[in-house]
Parts: sequence; structure tokens; C-alpha cells
Amino acid sequence: MGSLTVTLVFLYAVSAVLCTPFINQLQPGQEWPARSSVKQPYHQFDGTENEHKPEVAEPKTAASEVEKEVISDEPQAPLVETVERIDYSGAQVWKVSTEDVQVQRLIKKLATDKLIASWGGNHSSIDILIKPNALENVTAMFRNGDITYDIMIDDLQQRINEENPPLDENELELQDRRGHRMTWKQYHRLEDIHGFMDYLAKTYPSIISVNTIGKSYEGRELKILRISDGKAGNKAVFIDGGIHAREWISPAVVTYFINQFAENFDVESDDIKNIDWYFLPVVNPDGYEYTHRSDRLWRKNRKYGYGPSTCTGADLNRNFGYRWGGKGSSSYPCSDIYRGSGPFSEPETKAISEFFRNTAVKFSAYLTYHSYGQYLLYPWGYDNALPADHKDLDSVGKQMAEAIRKTGGSQYKVGSSSGLLYPAAGGSDDWAKSLGIKYTYTVELSDTGRYGFVLPASYIEPVARENLAGLRVLASQV
Ligand SMILES: [Zn+2]
Repeated sequence: MGSLTVTLVFLYAVSAVLCTPFINQLQPGQEWPARSSVKQPYHQFDGTENEHKPEVAEPKTAASEVEKEVISDEPQAPLVETVERIDYSGAQVWKVSTEDVQVQRLIKKLATDKLIASWGGNHSSIDILIKPNALENVTAMFRNGDITYDIMIDDLQQRINEENPPLDENELELQDRRGHRMTWKQYHRLEDIHGFMDYLAKTYPSIISVNTIGKSYEGRELKILRISDGKAGNKAVFIDGGIHAREWISPAVVTYFINQFAENFDVESDDIKNIDWYFLPVVNPDGYEYTHRSDRLWRKNRKYGYGPSTCTGADLNRNFGYRWGGKGSSSYPCSDIYRGSGPFSEPETKAISEFFRNTAVKFSAYLTYHSYGQYLLYPWGYDNALPADHKDLDSVGKQMAEAIRKTGGSQYKVGSSSGLLYPAAGGSDDWAKSLGIKYTYTVELSDTGRYGFVLPASYIEPVARENLAGLRVLASQV
């Protein structure tokens, strides 16, 4: 088949006992508020259970030779597996206007027949991936129906090949000196992201700490980084990324925020310093790694064994427990929007819900970064309904969009997810809002379809910079 075979080798198991906790409990900003009245099954926020790798900067290993795999005690994932890289040569992405009902019907049928896959859309258009072996047929059907379309991506594999070029020599040299490997000039593996977080906790122990709030299905850590000066009156903001595996720009942008605040905390504005920031940059680490080593366009998590078929994974953004199971989610395990077997059936969403259940922190805002489309969306997503304070959400959202536009020029549309896009029940934003977190937004980052999920790495910095401006507006409003 000519596809690259990657063997995953189990390399290490780190004992928590052997690790020095990062968190100096004497530091004022370091205690993560926990509800003492609530039993905390698998995480105490004192850092003693903080499993981490002892080395931040490990020697670089060629990704094609050896992969790291972490071990889980439940459930058992295969320690050695053979992974084939999926080749998208000849696949195309089209933007199609869906104003016409006939077009909607055709697209639905093509999707059911698995000839195309949806990349996303709104009330007026949809982006679809056409599989190479279906291209001729689908083209003929569109021609016969007199349906127009724009070819956004002519050869998807070519775009994938060009998306994440290796760093140049200067960058590699800088990377060696920095103590961590994150660059924002490249999309990085999970190991680099986690190494970066651990590096910051080690380097700035008075304001930064890292905690693991649980593990993914395959046993990877769900790492949260907190930035806080420990002031009593601080507000709290929670930001996550990487719920959907293939949306690489999301963890890249969230880690960019972390880097900005961490490296410049002393000179940051009071708006930033008066907030305790909680960042979970990769909610779906198994899926994220899978997109790097096997299928660039994987969306769900990697929980195995759903349904009678060989289908893997649930859509984590349909698995949250507020109005779970409603519109825009599927009960069919092979669907890309499979909602899982029940609310919080997935270890990744479960860990987040437990974190919020156990923490004493009262969050004022919850932001979850996705791609793509350039939208700032607020609840509700489950159906065409609005929360009572939707005017506040709309107003702050529009100010954020304006700051983004002024900084980088990108236009973000602001509205409720169900109103602006389509209903989708079980999203993290609805659930966060249901907890009483006022400023809850799903941010759909760049672009609007030219590259879609396969946004070249050179876009990371501009996209992150303009969204940092948006985040600063939010910080001034909470
Ligand atoms: Zn997404």
C-alpha cells in the first residue's frame, strides 16, 4: 500500500513515588482550591499524585522509528500496535451552497453512502471532503443536478504534506536552548506540549502549577496548567483546547496564551493578573496523537469497542452531560458525531466533569477553542434557544471579535451556536453554562475553509496573536 508503518513501543512507566512534586506547597499561589466536603476519587490538589516525566528536554527521537506510549491501568489498551498512515491523495474539499433543498438531500445521501464526509458548515453552505474513489461519481452527480461548488482543496494529501514543515536550523538551535520544545512555528506532539507545561511549572513555581486531572482512554495524562498569583479576590477563567483531535490550531493557540502570560506575568495588565487561569490545552490526547501518526483527519477520541462494528471513538463535544443525546448528535458508533453510550461515558469528559465537581473555584468564564470557521459562539447549542443573559454574551463576544479584527484582520461572526450554525447537543459549552459559568464561548478559529483543518503552521502565530487580543477583552469584562 505504500503507507508508512509505525510501531508503537511501550517505553516507560513513571512512578509517582520517584518524582519530585513540582508544587511547592508553601507558595501562596499553589494550592488549588478543592471542595473539602466532596470526596476526590483520583486527584488531590496537593501535587503529590502529580505524575510526570522526569526530563523536560529529552533527546529527539525520529518519530517514524519509535513512538512513546503511556500505560493505563484501566482499561487495557494495546501496548504495541501497528498503525498505518492514511493517505488522502486525490481527496478534495468542496464548499457547496446549501440554500437549495435538493442540494441538502443529495449531500445527505452522499454522506450516508460514505462517499463524502462533512467538514462543517452553517445555514448557507457546507464544506465536504470527497473521497478519491468517489470523485468521478460525485462530480457527475453535481453536474447533472446543475449544482455549483468551489474546490477549496484540490489534493488533500498535498496540503497535509505541506502543513507542518520541519523547523529551520535557527529555530532548532533556539529550541535547544529554551528548555522546552514548543515553538508556535510548528504543530507539536503531545510530549512537547506537556514538556512545555512542566517546564513552566518548574521555572515559575510561584505562579504556575500543573495538575493531572485524569487520564485518557489510552492512559495519557490530562494536564491542566494554572497561572495565578494567589490573590484572594481573583476571578477564575477556564480555557481548553483539542477536544477534536484534528483541530491542531486549537492546542497551538491555547499554549500560545499560556506562554504569553507565563513569560510576561510581571508586566501583564491587572486584568490578566487578577484572574486565576486554568488551561487544559489537549482534552483529547489520544485522538491528537492519532492525527499525528495515522489519520490526520481523525475527530473523536480513541475509545475502542463501540457497537457491533470495529468503529472507534466518541465525539467528546457531544458527550457532555447537559441535554445529552439531543439534536445534532448521533447514536451510531461509526458516526463522526457519535455521542457515546451515555453522558460523560468517555474518560476525557468524565475527568473534566469531576474536576469541576470537585473544585471550589467559581469560574467566571469558560472558553473552548476549536476550528474552523471563525465564529465566537455562545449557548445554547442543544437547540434554538438562548440563555437569559444572552445580551451580555453577545455584547462581550462582539467586543472580542472587534479586537480580533483590529489586531489581525480576521472577521469572526458572533452568535449562539444553534442560531449561527446548527443545533448540537452534548457540547462542553452548554454544560459549562449549565453550571452557572456566565461567559461561556466556543471559539472556532481560522480559517473559513481555504485550508480548513489543515491550516499551515505559519498561521499559528497570527491566529494566536489576534485571539490573544480577544482574550484580553474577555479578561477585562469578567
Ligand atoms: Zn471542534
